[in-house]
Amino acid sequence: MSEQQFDVVVVGAGPAGYPAAIRAAQLGLSVACVDDWQNADGSRQLGGTCLNVGCIPSKALLESSELYHRTETEFAAHGISVDGVSLDLDAMQKRKQGIVKQLTSGIEALLKSAGVTAIRGHGRLLGEHKVEVAGDNGSSHVLAAENVVLATGSTPIELPTAPFDGERIVDSAGALEFSEVPARLGVIGAGVIGLELGSVWGRLGAEVVLLEALDTFLPMVDEQVARDALKQFRRQGLDIRLGASVTGARASGDGVTVSYEAGGKKKRLQVDKLIVCVGRRPVTDGLLAPEAGVDLDDKGFITVDESCRTSVPKVWAVGDVVRGPMLAHKGTEEGVMVAELIAGHAAEVNYGAIPSVIYTAPEIAWVGQTEAEVKADGRDYKVGTFPFSANGRAKALQQAAGLVKLIAEREYDEILGLHIVGPMAGELIAEAVLAMEFSASAEDLQRTMHAHPTLTEALHEAALSADKRAIHALNR
Ligand code: FAD
Ligand code: NAD
Repeated sequence: MSEQQFDVVVVGAGPAGYPAAIRAAQLGLSVACVDDWQNADGSRQLGGTCLNVGCIPSKALLESSELYHRTETEFAAHGISVDGVSLDLDAMQKRKQGIVKQLTSGIEALLKSAGVTAIRGHGRLLGEHKVEVAGDNGSSHVLAAENVVLATGSTPIELPTAPFDGERIVDSAGALEFSEVPARLGVIGAGVIGLELGSVWGRLGAEVVLLEALDTFLPMVDEQVARDALKQFRRQGLDIRLGASVTGARASGDGVTVSYEAGGKKKRLQVDKLIVCVGRRPVTDGLLAPEAGVDLDDKGFITVDESCRTSVPKVWAVGDVVRGPMLAHKGTEEGVMVAELIAGHAAEVNYGAIPSVIYTAPEIAWVGQTEAEVKADGRDYKVGTFPFSANGRAKALQQAAGLVKLIAEREYDEILGLHIVGPMAGELIAEAVLAMEFSASAEDLQRTMHAHPTLTEALHEAALSADKRAIHALNR
């Protein structure tokens, strides 16, 4: 078997792996990046889950479906009448595919221009920093490295009670590919994917029922914000049923029958398609030879320290395959950090300031701790809130529902968390992330001038409200 030598071999070219490879190459190291992604049609593309079946295609459909929905429901309020609005789902899907194609080809070009050797194939870590690569046609070769970075990502969890059949019972990737709008859509799991993809098909005309096992809606979100969001989603027509335990799903020629229990009663739901999105699991299938010596935790994640070092020296792991939120940007920051550490630089990830966004309408975004978490830590804190109903720009946008909530330490004024449900929350949260990165106080935000009229004024007013100084709201 031939053996090529590199300073760094990265396994996985998703948003954690490819930035690690590019940054290591920028720092003068010789780098190979091995990836085995294969689409349903057999084509191979870089970019992992995020670019192929995750962040990017879902946001493309969210944007298109929102435009369609707003054209139907909001234009009249602006004094615009539009007759004969119709949906061309084929064109919508083609636009999405075009974006994916452009961005995945872009990754290929970026790796090439950085001098990274991109290798298609399945990587398996042997002992002594060697990675065996199994190619398409049964070929195999070995890469020897000083350092190995494992960035193999995650995949949907399958429920034994509702196994995927790729046709009627699908995972998130299947739910991005529907060629017709299902009249009745069932979703198991009212988490991030359930809400985003449920929103896409709901806006395009599906009747959507979400079955969520927990009694609490979005437990990772600040309770006040989650309550507000739930009200708005239900008002939009999403039928979110909490405390619903699915006991089985049976597909037949004309649909899927879902059995579940809620409130101590056995219930049934008849739908045309069923999306199962109950979380994702780390991918380590066929990745670690017994002699690799890399430890996994009890949930199958590769065990790492805060610098993403595994149990084996000079073997690192980043992204969804390790602990922490399964978010593309979290993986990217870890990948870049690891490249810097390998090259001998100091680097760290601020795990206390990772933004999260749910791209529904309204969007939900947050950074830092929820009020319940601050309370559980026993900290003395203050809260400032501001409703978008009192924000001029939100009114002009016809999207004045929702609120901003800031939580700060009472004595030292340090910002501990910021939570938004409202228009463009995913863009607005960047200000709070930057503030927290610089350990800003609520007063720092209060003293920062915000352009008028913008949505950012709602963050300003929430900070002012924490000290009962809001100008455009009652300070209670
Ligand atoms: P992946 O992106 O999963 O990439 C891993 C790569 O490694 C894949 O290409 C895989 O084929 C390859 N691989 C695996 N094993 C091997 C092996 N042994 N040899 C070679 N290659 C291998 N996150 C956000 O931050 N924002 C969003 O808006 C967002 N939306 C999402 C929407 C959906 C529908 C889904 C499913 C996910 C979404 N996510 C979002 C999550 C995001 O996609 C993941 O957090 C991110 O892709 C993880 O990056 P990663 O590089 O760790 O893994
Ligand atoms: P999730 O953890 O967000 O939600 C899964 C939901 O399913 C939970 O509410 C859980 O209680 C529920 N559930 C679990 N088992 C169930 C059962 N048997 N019956 C009914 N409900 C059940 O997971 P997801 O929505 O699958 O998303 C996976 C990951 O992908 C998330 O961790 C998320 O971070 C990431 N993602 C992020 C974005 C984004 O950043 N906008 C978008 C999509 C996905």
